[in-house]
Amino acid sequence: MGAEAFVPERPSLSKLREAAAGCRGCDLWRGATQTVFSEGSRGARLMLVGEMPGDQEDRQGKPFVGPAGRELDRALQEAGIERGDAYVTNVVKHFKFEERGKRRIHQTPRKGEIDACMPWLDTEIKLIRPAALVTLGATAAKALLGSGFRLTQHRGELLDADLADIVAATIHPSAIVRQRDDEARHAERAAFVADLRMVAEALG
Ligand code: SF4
Repeated sequence: MGAEAFVPERPSLSKLREAAAGCRGCDLWRGATQTVFSEGSRGARLMLVGEMPGDQEDRQGKPFVGPAGRELDRALQEAGIERGDAYVTNVVKHFKFEERGKRRIHQTPRKGEIDACMPWLDTEIKLIRPAALVTLGATAAKALLGSGFRLTQHRGELLDADLADIVAATIHPSAIVRQRDDEARHAERAAFVADLRMVAEALG
């Protein structure tokens, strides 16, 4: 069915958040604890868009509070961006997972689930009108920049897109967490910080 029917006609950020809590636009709400909406103020100049909440985010009801969130906080700080100055959200607002014993393993959302959830993100972008928008990871990049978008080809570039004056695509910080050793983790972290710094410099 999609989220469209749940988006308020004259949305404010708080109305949007409230309405999203009751969204039944696809089946993902059934297994998840709660809708994980966004964090950040309407006046934020930078919008960061990830894929979907993870295990910790689902439990706490806030985006980017798990291990990937800690990587994001650290990288933002190193890039000279206050987390409080950024509006942080996800393409899909409910956690999709597979249970393996006591663990809940992240599953990539399907295109149908992403399409169903897009009315929330589209409305957030219209409300916030950020000066800069950064997609985190391939799912968010493809959802906002087109299915043919290749992160490996365009990472580290300022992109020409209607979403905001400054648009860039970088990795999802969970990619840092998943690296097999410290050396690989440091390299991935440094590249992530460089991408965010490029955006911070463009913002001035
Ligand atoms: S994932 Fe999105 S569309 Fe699906 S129920 Fe949750 S908020 Fe609604």
